[in-house]
Amino acid sequence: MRVAIIGAGPIGLEAAAFFLLRNYDVRVYERGTRIADNVASWGHVRLFSPFSLNRSDWGLQVIAESDGDYKPPAEHALLAGREYLESYLKPLSDCDLLDGCIELNTRVVSITKQGLGKAHAIGQASRGKSPFVILLESTDPDTRRSTERTELADVVIDCSGTYGNHRWLGVGGAPGPGERRLLSSKDYLLPDILGRDIEQFLGKQTLVVGSGYSAATSIVSLQHLANANAATRVTWVTRASHDGPIPLIEGDTLTERDAIARSANELAVKELATSVNSCVTWLPGVELEAISQRDDGSYEVMVVKGGERETIVVDQILANVGYRPDREMYRELQVHECYASEGPIKLAAALLGETSSDCLAQSAHGADSLKNPEAGFFIIGAKSYGRNSKFLLKLGLQQIQDVGELISRDFQQPGL
Ligand SMILES: Cc1cc2nc3c(=O)[nH]c(=O)nc-3n(C[C@H](O)[C@H](O)[C@H](O)COP(=O)(O)OP(=O)(O)OC[C@H]3O[C@@H](n4cnc5c(N)ncnc54)[C@H](O)[C@@H]3O)c2cc1C
Repeated sequence: MRVAIIGAGPIGLEAAAFFLLRNYDVRVYERGTRIADNVASWGHVRLFSPFSLNRSDWGLQVIAESDGDYKPPAEHALLAGREYLESYLKPLSDCDLLDGCIELNTRVVSITKQGLGKAHAIGQASRGKSPFVILLESTDPDTRRSTERTELADVVIDCSGTYGNHRWLGVGGAPGPGERRLLSSKDYLLPDILGRDIEQFLGKQTLVVGSGYSAATSIVSLQHLANANAATRVTWVTRASHDGPIPLIEGDTLTERDAIARSANELAVKELATSVNSCVTWLPGVELEAISQRDDGSYEVMVVKGGERETIVVDQILANVGYRPDREMYRELQVHECYASEGPIKLAAALLGETSSDCLAQSAHGADSLKNPEAGFFIIGAKSYGRNSKFLLKLGLQQIQDVGELISRDFQQPGL
């Protein structure tokens, strides 16, 4: 059984170890120059879930079998992304079991079925028996030259995440006029405001857009800069107009997450303020209409609030508006998606039934929630949640075991 895994992020690596332990023929394709490229990109951000929830028992086991001296982080440790990468994901990818199965610099471009188009053999067993054909684009890191080839697989597990495939700032989530031309993909990531990217923000005027934990993290970091240099100013715009920009989770058990959200809200809302020196001006209930650039390089951002237009002038824009799945690679497969979240429909429907806003309160939704019309194709990890940002690693670890159950239940027949 050939198992192709897309993405060597935390869930792709854990899945590789899980299926190699069960003697499957596993290949992992990673577009980045390093494993866990997305985690590395936000490596300066501290995870809010403890290490015990971010690692699997089988992962620890295979590392220990490969390296008798390995010391895992403490179970309760709240690691920064890069610490999680160095102390766990890297040893996992380096262990003997995974030796030679990860192809870096290799992007999955498309996945199809051999001899069958999208509309062929709907619901028929013959579709399940035809192998997947994966178009791969490998780039030589030195010369930047690309080559293409195809590989076959019996099962494909898409663990390619969503980070980096950003949503847009404009009205209704579409790109606003000027946005595509003036902003680059890095404006939608999480910059290292207090480290590598400090010069970009120190003493500058920044527009932060978004009302999630990424925006909260940016706001708190920018205030640290403002404490050192009072010229650092922030305008924070959010579509919603709650009591504070970040909706709080009552009794949040993830204390790090709760602390960031509260600090950001205190900086935005004068009545909550514990400090008089906030660098933040919060504009709630605002939609961003258009972006243009002045001759001096600063941006003019046109926003609208209750029908009134206002122009904000800033040095830069930090778009913390979330991510969405890249569906292009499986466009020719029979994947049934949710029209709102763009996640696979069965899981998306189960998620709609969740009432708690606390993502730690979630549990995985069972193996059948991962099935879709294309037998043998599974979307797991952060991508399985589509635009929903509540995914947690502990859920992805359960999903891997669920896919294992589905494969041994539904696909382990001769000829598949
Ligand atoms: C800032 C931040 C903090 C977070 N904190 C937590 C936390 O505390 N606890 C928690 O449980 N979760 C947290 N999450 C959510 C989630 O667990 C992480 O996003 C996690 O990295 C998801 O793992 P993944 O393997 O599904 O996807 P990713 O880590 O995104 O990995 C996907 C991999 O696929 C590769 N890839 C993408 N497209 C292709 C392609 N076409 N071909 C080949 N390779 C491809 C990427 O380069 C990447 O290496 C956080 C997320 C973010 C962004």
